[in-house]
Amino acid sequence: QQTEKAQKVEGSFEISLPGAEMGKVCTRFPPEPSGFLHIGHAKAAFLNEYFARKYGGKLIVRFDDTNPSKEKDEFVTNIMQDLETLEIKPDEVTYTSDYFPALMEMAEKLIKEGKAYVDDTPREVMQKERMDGIESKRRNQNVEENLALWKEMVAGTKRGLSCCLRGKLDMQALNKTLRDPVYYRCNPEEHHRVGSKYKVYPTYDFACPYVDSTEGVTHALRSSEYHDRNEQYYRILADMGVRPVHTWDFSRLNFVYTLLSKRKLQWFVSQGLVEGWDDPRFPTVQGMRRRGLTVEALRRFILSQGASKNLNLMEWDKLWTINKQIIDPVCPRHTAVLKDGKVPLTLRDGPETPFIRIIPRHKKFAGAGKKATVFANTILIDKADAEAIHEGEEVTLMDWGNTIIEKIDREGDKVTGLSGVLHLEGSVKTTKLKLTWLADHPELVDLNLVELDYLIRKEKMEEEDELLNVLNPVTKIEVAAVGDSNMRNLAKGEIIQLERKGYFICDAPYVRPTSPIVLISIPDGRQRPR
Ligand code: ATP
Ligand code: MG
Ligand code: MG
Repeated sequence: QQTEKAQKVEGSFEISLPGAEMGKVCTRFPPEPSGFLHIGHAKAAFLNEYFARKYGGKLIVRFDDTNPSKEKDEFVTNIMQDLETLEIKPDEVTYTSDYFPALMEMAEKLIKEGKAYVDDTPREVMQKERMDGIESKRRNQNVEENLALWKEMVAGTKRGLSCCLRGKLDMQALNKTLRDPVYYRCNPEEHHRVGSKYKVYPTYDFACPYVDSTEGVTHALRSSEYHDRNEQYYRILADMGVRPVHTWDFSRLNFVYTLLSKRKLQWFVSQGLVEGWDDPRFPTVQGMRRRGLTVEALRRFILSQGASKNLNLMEWDKLWTINKQIIDPVCPRHTAVLKDGKVPLTLRDGPETPFIRIIPRHKKFAGAGKKATVFANTILIDKADAEAIHEGEEVTLMDWGNTIIEKIDREGDKVTGLSGVLHLEGSVKTTKLKLTWLADHPELVDLNLVELDYLIRKEKMEEEDELLNVLNPVTKIEVAAVGDSNMRNLAKGEIIQLERKGYFICDAPYVRPTSPIVLISIPDGRQRPR
C-alpha cells in the first residue's frame, strides 16, 4: 500500500530535461566536502539521480574540493555515508582535485591566449570596481607579465600571494558575473587530498565548467542562486574551447527557522551548541534521521515539489506529515507514564497476582510483532489523566476494559491516588476517557523523553542577521517517564508510538537499569512547538 502511494506521488512528478536523449544523459551532484549533507543537498542529489535514471544515463558524484581551508576527509566519508542512506548509487565518484594539473594547464593556456590576466587589486577595491564597471589597471598588461606573475602565484611567493587570476570577459556586461570573475586564488594551506603541492586553487566558477565538460556531463543541474551565473558558465566553456554543457535550474530549498548553510552549521558545531553534525536538531541527513525522518518521506517530499522553480520558504510540517503517514501504519505501540506526579489507581477486584497477556504491538499490522502486557491490581496513570476524572466516572483502561472510579484521594489540589472496581462488561463507547496505564511493577523501565525545538527563533534568516541574536535559548526539553518492560528490546533508530503521547525514535537503547532509554519525539506535522 505504501509503495503504491509513493508511485502515485512520483508518477505525478514528470519533468524533462531539454535536449535529453535516452541512454546519453550524464548528471552530477557536486558537494563540497566542507560538512555533512543537509536537506538542500538531498534535493540536489535526488534530482540528479532522478534524471540519470529516467534517461537510463549516468550519475557522477563529484567532490568539489577546491578550497583546502574548509575541506576534510571526514566530510568525504560522511557524505558517502549520507548518499548511501539516501539510497543514491553514483556510477562514478570523482574529485575536482583530480583535475588540478589539467586546470593549471587550462589557466596557462587562457593566459597565453589573452583570455585571463593576473591582478593584484585588493579584494575590496576589486569588488567596488566590479560594481562600477571599472577595469583593473592590470587588465591590459601583456602575456609575458601575466605569465611571470602567474609563476609567482604558483610558487606561492610573497608577490604571488597578493594576486589572483581573473578571466578577461566583459567589464561592461549588465550581468555582473561576467565582469572578469576570479579563476584562481592563492591559498598556502594544505589540501586534504593533495597535500601542499599547490599554492593556488581554482574557483568554482572556473573549475566547474571545465570538469563538467571533461567528465562528459550533459546536463548540469544548478540551484536557482546560480541562475545569473549560467551566462558566465557558457562563456567560460567557450573561452576554454571545450564541449558545451546544458544547464537546468531548480529552486533552492529553504525552511522556516532553519539554517541551510554548511558554514553556519559548522559554527553551531564549533561552538558546542549541538552534539555534532548528526544532532537531531540539525537539518542534515544524519540529524533528520536521528529525529525520526524516514528516507521515503524525504524522497516523496522532494520529488513532489519537483521542478517548481519558486523560491519559497518551506514549512517543516508538510514533511513531517508525510513521514507520519509512512510510520503510523507500521510502527509498534508502547506505553509510558510520566514520572512527575504519576498516580496509582488501585483496582479493588484486580488480579491478586499479576498476570501477563501477549498482545500485538500494532493492532492492524502483525509485522510489528507482539509484546507482553502485565495486568495487576495497582496500576499507574498520568497526573493529567487523574486530574480529569470525577468520582463515580466510568473510564476505559486501554487493552483491558472499563473501570468505575469509586474514590479519589487528594492532598490539596493534588490527586495522590484513586481506587476503582473493574467493569469489563462495560462498553468502550460509553466512556469519555480512554487511559493509558502501566501495572505498578518492578520491571518498568526508565525513559528519558526528549522534545526538541528549532535552533533559531527567526522564521526567515536574512543576510544581515547575527546568529547570536537569533539563537533559541531552549531547544531541548527532557521529561522522565516509565515505560513497559518490552521497551528493553528497542534498538537504536527504532520508531515507535507511545500511546496518546506521540511518535518517538530510540536514540539510546536499554543498557542497564540505572540509565534511561532515550526516546526523541518525532514531529507529526501537528505539534507546533511555539
Ligand atoms: P552550503 O551553503 O550549505 O555550503 P553549497 O551550495 O555551498 O551549500 P555544495 O556542497 O557546494 O554546497 O552544494 C552541492 C550541491 O547542492 C549544489 O548543486 C548546490 O546547488 C546544492 N544545494 C546546496 N544547498 C541547497 C539548497 N538549500 N537547496 C537546493 N540545493 C542545494
Ligand atoms: Mg558550493
Ligand atoms: Mg555555500
